[in-house]
Amino acid sequence: MAIYTSESRERVREAADFVELVSSHTDLRRAGPTRYEGLCPFHEERTPSFGIDPQRKLYHCFGCGASGDLFTFVQETEKIGFREALELLAERYGIDLEREADDPRALELRRRRERLYALLERACAFYERCLRHPQVGASARAYLRERGLGEEILASFRVGLAPEGGDAIVRAASREGFSAQELRAVGLASAGPGGALQDRFRARITFPLADERGRVIGFGARILPGGQGPKYLNSSESEIYHKGAHLYGAHLARVAAAREGSVILCEGYTDVIAMHQAGFANTVGLMGTALTEPQVRALGRLAPRVLMALDADSAGQGAMLRAAKVAGAARLQLDVIRLGGGGQEASEDPADVLRSGGAQAMSQALAAAIPFMRFRVETVLERGDLSSASGRDRVLEALRPLIAALPASALRIELVGLIASRLQLSGALVEHLLAGERGGDRAARARRAQAPAGSGAGRREPAGTEAGGRAPLPAARRAERAERAFLALCLALPPEGGEALRSLAVEEAFTDADLRAAARRLQAADLADPLHMSPPLDREQEALIAALLAEGSALAAAAGCAQQEASSGRTLLCAQLEVQRLQLELAALDRAIHAARSHRAGIAQLAARRLELKRAFDEAQERALEGDLALSV
Ligand code: ZN
Repeated sequence: MAIYTSESRERVREAADFVELVSSHTDLRRAGPTRYEGLCPFHEERTPSFGIDPQRKLYHCFGCGASGDLFTFVQETEKIGFREALELLAERYGIDLEREADDPRALELRRRRERLYALLERACAFYERCLRHPQVGASARAYLRERGLGEEILASFRVGLAPEGGDAIVRAASREGFSAQELRAVGLASAGPGGALQDRFRARITFPLADERGRVIGFGARILPGGQGPKYLNSSESEIYHKGAHLYGAHLARVAAAREGSVILCEGYTDVIAMHQAGFANTVGLMGTALTEPQVRALGRLAPRVLMALDADSAGQGAMLRAAKVAGAARLQLDVIRLGGGGQEASEDPADVLRSGGAQAMSQALAAAIPFMRFRVETVLERGDLSSASGRDRVLEALRPLIAALPASALRIELVGLIASRLQLSGALVEHLLAGERGGDRAARARRAQAPAGSGAGRREPAGTEAGGRAPLPAARRAERAERAFLALCLALPPEGGEALRSLAVEEAFTDADLRAAARRLQAADLADPLHMSPPLDREQEALIAALLAEGSALAAAAGCAQQEASSGRTLLCAQLEVQRLQLELAALDRAIHAARSHRAGIAQLAARRLELKRAFDEAQERALEGDLALSV
């Protein structure tokens, strides 16, 4: 005899995502509205003869004849019995298994739960009657009317009113034979100051929360205008109601969500009701909590695509982030609906949008939904300070993990393009800054790890490059620092510096836009008097070049040539300039190679050029070090 009820077995069958389940054993490809195909997990094959029906949750292989339902699939792949397969799936999809009633304790528990469900159902009906009552419900009805919600839609969501006074539901339930203990168990009442039982919800509009079968499991309750206490009060956690396990309106959205292939997620109860009223019946809501993992799974059971109409505030973003984490595993497509002033910070509630622009405005917002990753990238770009080099570095830092998490895809290419255009950098450069340098950091760490302790101590690095042993700078910062050092050296050595600068392909050599612009101006300027150019510099450029001049003279002083004519110091500075110039060229070439690698073109030529440059760089560095040592003895 089975120990679990057939009802709970069917609930597991309903809740399981068969595509996800099978996908962990073989790659599936959609082959029709009710068919996915892939290589058979039960026999070796090269062309797929294995198919599944995702709705009925059945599989069949034309090759080896393996076939069955989701339970046999788990039994066969995990090599376990039916009971274990059922328990494993119940656990995975968050279903409570009910034992067969031959256990007297289990039978008693079930009877008790049925009474609790009945109590919640009666309470719901009681609240509905209160809302319809001519006098008692008048102000609540006025409030709901003002929100644009009609009677019909309120009735289908069973919206009600918990009346004023302290014990309306307590008295009504007692009359129907429910005990104080049962009232407390479902969170409808609690002991008041004097010990007497009092209603949890008073003078509040009630929104019944239902499970996926439509049974009332608790309430969300909104305060009436002018009332006291928290704006929203929910049922407390109980044996029936588990916070964060359900979605508001899921039982009413199921059919529409399946038909549309998508489900819309809102924050507020009235948003959900307004959406249904406007014809968007595939809408569900959070139930006063941040989005939880079970809720994300519940969304996935409704439809493969989730459109999130959540507040753009940090709580809403946090909810979306959590959703994204779970969505990956649940194979959900997550899109974000931006409501109100596209791209603006100020967002509106779905109900606001419907009131001001009607269903048409909402349809447009839905059509303009963007993938969640794009939303995150856009948010970082919008909130970041793109006007300064350090601001852009921070933006790149924030974007790096986002882009790194994306597989090669059209979306990734699109996002890199978006970042490049906002930062005014080339796509190849953005790719390099976002991804390429991680390898660089690893290489630098590896080098440091390999070098015997103390071996780096005697070896001074040329000016401007990062001294070994310090924490590695972010790629963009390192590049910027090298570029700055080069310009400072150019300014410290007017004739040679001018030559070095003019020999450089400025557009490729500089990653930092401000430094690139400065280099462009300096190429055409008299480096002996760089602050007076025509057309005149703007304030920001002037400040930058003044800073570079100061850095240049500090380098010159360090090299022992406070006077520009001091010959040995000057020779050293020239050697450093050459090192610095070659370093920029090398970095630019590395970026070109990195970009070429993704197109698999022109690598050989670039690699040859790199070899040549690297040799020149090493020689220049040798010379610089020799000069350095000569000076120090
Ligand atoms: Zn097979």
